[in-house]
Amino acid sequence: MSAIIMDGKALGLKIRESVKVQSTALKEKGIMPCLAVVLVGDDPASMSYVKSKDKALGEAGMESRDIRLPEDTSEDQLLSIIAELNRDDKVHGILVQSPVPKHINEEKINDAVAPHKDVDCFHPDSVGNMILGRPGFLPCTPHGVLMLLREYNIPISGSHAVIVGRSNIVGKPLANLLIRREYNATVTLCHTGTKDLARYTLQADIIIAAAGKPNLIKPDMIKERAAVIDVGINRVEDSSAQKGYRLCGDVDPAVAQKAGFFTPVPGGVGPMTIAMLLQNVADAAKK
Ligand code: NAD
Repeated sequence: MSAIIMDGKALGLKIRESVKVQSTALKEKGIMPCLAVVLVGDDPASMSYVKSKDKALGEAGMESRDIRLPEDTSEDQLLSIIAELNRDDKVHGILVQSPVPKHINEEKINDAVAPHKDVDCFHPDSVGNMILGRPGFLPCTPHGVLMLLREYNIPISGSHAVIVGRSNIVGKPLANLLIRREYNATVTLCHTGTKDLARYTLQADIIIAAAGKPNLIKPDMIKERAAVIDVGINRVEDSSAQKGYRLCGDVDPAVAQKAGFFTPVPGGVGPMTIAMLLQNVADAAKK
């Protein structure tokens, strides 16, 4: 029996519809929800992410303030633009597209965004609030993963969740959210220092792969009927594809034959990230 495919596109659309309703209510009160998206340089993948965010914001009835800056923008120039956006009452959320060029310190940039506009949840205050369970924005991709697990009624409480990847934007926040009382999972966080990854993934009721390694998780690494969430979005060369590459996840698609639940790439976690970003912008505008 093959896995139930978790349709992030459909759930993402449902959330976006709800955000649109919230956005209409805000506009009736004279508030136009607005996200400022800052892009430094012309990295093709970043440009395409920014374009899809613009489109999603427009469809949700929100304003997207696009700020495109040349690759040679200095750190000070970027910091002063962020300071200006922090002061601008018409801007509710600020997102600086990652990665920024190498001559700019990304940590300094994340620290410069006012926490009440930090819809990406990258500021140390936002991260601290998230870990302590205090009110604040939740990071978009981890929040999207949790929404998907809930939508498909996957038992989380008492489960063993194995996360592969310890990044600040996916692995670490997900581990922290899953151990909250409201989720109540037992978490194992694997990373490049983990010896014998399969030893851990084989014990998992829920596997969340966020390593950025194409097809890292194979069928012989999972327990029968496990829920497998693939966060990975990797470009692999493919001469038969129009663009010369195709997207693939961190999980071998053959896993779907053994798993209980499975997220496709594309169409799984990706659309959830954007939906949760829109929800954070709506929440920021409400405040
Ligand atoms: P990252 O490169 O910052 O971190 C990857 C982590 O995986 C590291 O902590 C590393 O220790 C671990 N890792 C790498 N190889 C491993 C291995 N062989 N075994 C065990 N652990 C290993 O990546 P990131 O920013 O967290 O992104 C991870 C993937 O998720 C990428 O493919 C990225 O494109 C994708 N992503 C998708 C979304 C989305 O919306 N779906 C959002 C963010 C990231």
